[in-house]
Amino acid sequence: MATTRLAVAPMKVAQISKPGGDFQIVEREIPKPGAGQVRIKVQACGVCHSDVLTKEGAWPGIQYPRVPGHEVAGIIDELGAGVSEWKAGQRVGVGWHGGHDGTCLWCRRGDFRNCRNQKIAGISYDGGYQQYMLAPVEALAAIPEGLEDAEAAPLLCAGITTYNALRHSGALPGDLVAVQGIGGLGHLGIQFAHKFGYKVAAIGRGPGNAALAKKLGANVYIDSKATNAAAELQKLGGAQVILATAPSSKAMSEVIDGLGPNGKLMVIGAAFDPIEVTPIQLISGSRTIQGWASGTPTDAEDTLRFAELTGVRPMIETYPLDKAAEAYARMMSGDAQFRVVLTM
Ligand SMILES: [Zn+2]
Ligand SMILES: [Zn+2]
Repeated sequence: MATTRLAVAPMKVAQISKPGGDFQIVEREIPKPGAGQVRIKVQACGVCHSDVLTKEGAWPGIQYPRVPGHEVAGIIDELGAGVSEWKAGQRVGVGWHGGHDGTCLWCRRGDFRNCRNQKIAGISYDGGYQQYMLAPVEALAAIPEGLEDAEAAPLLCAGITTYNALRHSGALPGDLVAVQGIGGLGHLGIQFAHKFGYKVAAIGRGPGNAALAKKLGANVYIDSKATNAAAELQKLGGAQVILATAPSSKAMSEVIDGLGPNGKLMVIGAAFDPIEVTPIQLISGSRTIQGWASGTPTDAEDTLRFAELTGVRPMIETYPLDKAAEAYARMMSGDAQFRVVLTM
């Protein structure tokens, strides 16, 4: 007897099947978007150090198998029920902020970044290490024309974090702003700081990145191995802001004395050990230490538009989706220059 069969096109997915498991390339059916969701044909997805949370199961309540990826750039190819503000064919991105409930106290205050039920792409639901992905509409950021997908992807996490932390740091044009660490975050932080009109001091370990830092827009390079970085910043008058990007609490502790009066250490490099600071260090000069996490999709749109306008771009290494394991290992090695991106 003949039966009618709809050919369901499969898609390729790079998934983790259990905490600490290896990447598996598997085929799945292309999913249908539910109400309030869109389906994105993924074009590129950045490989971020925070993907370790999915890979190793370090986030509470994560369910497996799970597809990592929260630096997603793609094209909307199907709309779920009730979605009117986005169009099929539109270029969109999804970053760390993968959704919010719109109803909790913080959402009612308009502070979606601190939603109590915040969703994270690649953790709460399957992320961008796949050919097609579903995302709730409140997670979407429009990608401007002038940015390529593989460039836009890292701007949705590393980019927004540095851009947003700096623009909320209180530093004004002409102020001395130090960017500590020249890596995935730092190489973007230097560019944004330069384009914001700050006097930029890049702090790296060893002389290796001096030329690159200058090329990215640093006015001054401070080698924290050869000199006392805090003292060097004081010679320049003291930093208004130090953007601490290297995930080293020890390195952060060492630069606090480089802050000028009312200076702020803006912490975005995620480490687990404590930053050491004495109350006296904070009291003298009324210094502060603040942390900053990412931002909302509208912050992402601001980041992307600013990057398009000013020429800020991530330095990337690309890998095909099939090589997700290799790409992840490259990111973990710390040797990538500087962001690793999967292309579909
Ligand atoms: Zn990230
Ligand atoms: Zn909420």
